Amino acid sequence: MVVGTVPVGGDAPISVQSMTTTKTADVEGTLAQIYALAAAGCDIVRCTCNEEEAAEGLAHIVSRSPVPIVADIHFQYKLALAAIEAGVHALRLNPGNIRKPEHIKLVASEARDRGLPIRIGVNAGSLDPDIAEQFGGATPEALVASAVRELDYFREVDFEDVKISVKASNVALMIDAYRLLADTVDYPLHLGVTEAGPPPAGLVKSTAGIGTLLAEGIGDTIRFSLTADPVEEARAGRTLLEALGLRERKNVDLIACPSCGRAEVDVIAVATAAQQALESRNIPLQVAVMGCVVNGPGEARDADLGIAAGRGKGHLFVKGHVVRVVPEAEMVQALIDEAEAIVAEGIEARIAKADVNAEAIAAAEREQLIELRGVDVNHSLDKIAKIREIADD
Ligand code: SF4
Repeated sequence: MVVGTVPVGGDAPISVQSMTTTKTADVEGTLAQIYALAAAGCDIVRCTCNEEEAAEGLAHIVSRSPVPIVADIHFQYKLALAAIEAGVHALRLNPGNIRKPEHIKLVASEARDRGLPIRIGVNAGSLDPDIAEQFGGATPEALVASAVRELDYFREVDFEDVKISVKASNVALMIDAYRLLADTVDYPLHLGVTEAGPPPAGLVKSTAGIGTLLAEGIGDTIRFSLTADPVEEARAGRTLLEALGLRERKNVDLIACPSCGRAEVDVIAVATAAQQALESRNIPLQVAVMGCVVNGPGEARDADLGIAAGRGKGHLFVKGHVVRVVPEAEMVQALIDEAEAIVAEGIEARIAKADVNAEAIAAAEREQLIELRGVDVNHSLDKIAKIREIADD
């Protein structure tokens, strides 16, 4: 299936979706949010079409949007027809909300004639009451049965350009429902944990549900449903896909040590400042912030770029090679400058331009630090010795 210009399903990259929170009738406000979502890595944006004014807003929005627009239809089938007329690239219908077969088939026929895909968006919280009664509640079987019944209506009018979702706010239920759905039908699946709530819990729940299924090879497009700025949803979705290696890196992947008693700098402050600075520049590199030069450069040797704190200094390294030693106050700026230089010139060129003394200075400082603080700054060996004494008593 293709939503506007974005292929979904089969070998297509997993796409990220989000939904605007503005009134769709507010054309400029909605477009501003759509542009922000696209910049954050969102591939497809959904807008509510809950009233005539929203459909009219869509008529202005679709042609100016940088990404395909899906109209989310609630109870009124006529608004689905209106959204099609507005030129949207796809519809989302909730089988629990539009229930009359003749209305469903009319919308599907129109979509078929216009070459428009539809998402069958089943939601545990708004399951068709007769299906809920038949299955004793919103079980995985009930969610899948609702999707299959909608699919049957579509097939009656020769329409199968569909993707399907069976969302629930309960992560275990959502996972079971999608597994069953994947065993039952052969259509692209849209994944999401509905009403996941605000971060961090919403992020954890969404990642648990969506990540589990993606790792099993289930899912073609995703949405994090967070109680937050939708830009956070898009960022989270994109980050998950990049972390799983399912999409190419579009922005920085900042890794940082958790810090410990050996840290020579406030790792949280440096990592946060670096993350913000690099993210706003869309730097597509893996960048490491490490609290000490004793373990940092070694542990982060695979990062494209990193910095580790020494005694009042930062050791800047590219793919494990120390290229410069900078004052601590310049650590973040040095990271930014080097990241931009790598993007412009490439990794090898930057290693070739390394300060010839940097490796030697870094090695000497590292030795001094070990001498000063000892190899066991966290006193782990002392603790182990005491544990052994207790155990041997
Ligand atoms: Fe960070 Fe160094 Fe502690 Fe490792 S040993 S957690 S790099 S401060």
